[in-house]
Amino acid sequence: MSIVQTLTRRTPAQDIDMSTENTGQATPMLDVRGLRKVYATAKRSVAAVHDLTFSIDAGELVCLVGPSGCGKTTLLRCIAGLLETTSGEVVLEGRRVSGPPEGMAVVFQEYGRSLFPWLTVWQNVELPLKEKGVPRAERKRLATEALAAVGLADFHTAHPWQLSGGMQQRVAIARAVAYEPHVLLMDEPFAAVDAQTRGELEDLLRALWERLGVTVLFVTHDIDEAVYLGQRVVILSNAPTEVLEDVAIDLPAERDQLTTRGLPRFAELRAHVYERVQQAKRGDRSAASTATT
Ligand code: ADP
Ligand code: MG
Repeated sequence: MSIVQTLTRRTPAQDIDMSTENTGQATPMLDVRGLRKVYATAKRSVAAVHDLTFSIDAGELVCLVGPSGCGKTTLLRCIAGLLETTSGEVVLEGRRVSGPPEGMAVVFQEYGRSLFPWLTVWQNVELPLKEKGVPRAERKRLATEALAAVGLADFHTAHPWQLSGGMQQRVAIARAVAYEPHVLLMDEPFAAVDAQTRGELEDLLRALWERLGVTVLFVTHDIDEAVYLGQRVVILSNAPTEVLEDVAIDLPAERDQLTTRGLPRFAELRAHVYERVQQAKRGDRSAASTATT
């Protein structure tokens, strides 16, 4: 199941951080600096994210892996401006994020809570565009293109509950893509679909990413998926969560399920990331014992 959450417009005064403007340096698309998040309740506090720093350039596709419970969803929610950080900051296109930024769309895992069951496929995709104030003709073009791109051109009038899980995911992806975000955040979006559909959705994502030039941060606990999709794989430690390693995935840009997954280099990278995640689970933060080069 998956949620595409399309985020509301913000006023410029809310999100311009002058300290990061006009520095004369190339600004990354997304910059996470010293991010820390503690969930505090009356009884106890949980340090979900200890100290995370990484950045993503415009147009990159970066995967983030880490043990379950290490704070991946928390991190994504902080990046999306849905959750306040305890300290540190998230900077999107040079502007500090302090609420849901306009140029971002999020696809979550729980698709049942994402799509509105009383709206048709078409209406689900069109809704955020209406909220964004996109004129009717442009809405029509964007929704038509996005639904065609995910292979749902014939399902405009269907309701989500008439579709399979994989098809509902496609609607969620179409909704995110039609919104024309600069950054697309995805939180284990394919975790609940069968293996075959999952492969198809992975290839769909790569194709859309190549075509649209959107920057993607893709969270998954599936190591094969991370290596197959990403240009980089950022590996997180267990709690207290930090970046263990940022692995460059030097596989050919042209990827397909059979050839790419059969490459010796794929196996090497996969083994390396696997070992690091196992290490992370054991709480071992020492340097890698297998090299990636
Ligand atoms: P992941 O997505 O990597 O599995 P999460 O970000 O969901 O990890 O959770 C990280 C840690 O924060 C876990 O220990 C989890 O129990 C805790 N946590 C998540 N959400 C909350 C919350 N709303 N209140 C308190 N603790 C939370
Ligand atoms: Mg999660």
